[in-house]
Order: sequence, then C-alpha cells, then structure tokens
Amino acid sequence: VSFPRLARDLAEVGRRFYQRGWVLGTSGNFSAVASARPLTLCITRSAAHKGTLKASDFLPIDERGQVRGRTRGKPSAETLLHLEIVRARSAGAVLHTHSVWSTMLSERHANDRGLAIEGYEMLKGLEGVSSHQHREWVPIVANDQDMTRLAPVVREVLRTEPAAHAFLIAGHGLYTWGRTIAEAERHVEILEFLFEVVGRTGGQART
Ligand SMILES: [Zn+2]
Repeated sequence: VSFPRLARDLAEVGRRFYQRGWVLGTSGNFSAVASARPLTLCITRSAAHKGTLKASDFLPIDERGQVRGRTRGKPSAETLLHLEIVRARSAGAVLHTHSVWSTMLSERHANDRGLAIEGYEMLKGLEGVSSHQHREWVPIVANDQDMTRLAPVVREVLRTEPAAHAFLIAGHGLYTWGRTIAEAERHVEILEFLFEVVGRTGGQART
C-alpha cells in the first residue's frame, strides 16, 4: 500500500475517532507500515488535529524514529512506542487514543497492572477470539513523558503478554494494533465499547 493511501485511510480513521470523542484536542496518534524493509512508518506529526488530518500531517519515519528524506516536521512524541509495537507484533498499523473510559479505567486498575475483561460477546471482535468466554488481559503501564524510558517498559509488556491485543497507559490512553488499519480500527472500537461496559457496570459479565 502506498504512503499517500495509508495517510488517506488514517485521516479517515481520525475523523471517525474525533467524532466519537476518542482523540480530542490533538491527542492520540496513528501509524501504518509503508515499507517493511527498510522499515518506514507513515505516522501523524506532533500536535496534528485528528479530526482534520491532511496529507501534510503524516511523516515517513525510519526504524529509529527519525524522519526519512527531506520531509520536514516533528513526528509524534510517541513514535518510539509505535516502533516497539510494530517490531514485537509484526503490526501493519498502530492506533493510540485518549478516551474518557480508557483514561478512567487505566487509573482505576493501575495498581493491578492490568484489566481483565471476560464474558462479553464483543470480545469476539478481537482477532483470533471466537468465544465470549475469552478472558482478555489488558496490561497497564505507568505514564511517563520520557519515551526512551517508556519504550523498554512497553517492550517488556509485549514480551510477557504475547496474547494481549492492546495495552493501556495509566491516566493516559489506549494502544492497540492490527495487521491492517481496518483491523486496528476494529480493535479500538471493540475495546472502547468494552471499556465503557466495564466502566459503567463496574465489573465482569456473568460467565
Ligand atoms: Zn498519548
């Protein structure tokens, strides 16, 4: 898939997520793999408004998080986390949102270092899950403004929780991914739905 096409598809995701209130106030960031070798990510630039993304809001970055070629601009501060996920999960797309429910639940369950979700039909929207009896463990890591410090923490969580479809950063938001942008978007929709259910009911479904 070409870089302009990925940028266009991610911009559409941004408009939908903005309308849902998941990426308000320039929060969140999105990326997709434009080339595997050498690794090139198409990623939102820093401080871009996600409801009005245009071609110039996307930057090509290399495996170290540096902007490729002569393109100008500052990539998202959380670029290093996107790279960790792409490497660990062979993801084709990574989506990061700051919703109300992910912010609240990640705080509420921070001391447990994760949030278990089980018993809900909507879990079947997560790739490879075929029953509501699935138990999804969403790890939670502490927030940190220093991405060179947070990146190895994320690497370790991805290594120790190989079945996880996502993780939360406490008081901050959600990271999830997929083989394609569509799969990653589905995961955001499914997880945001489940977070709201868990947040409103305060627990797990009857199993
Ligand atoms: Zn963020």
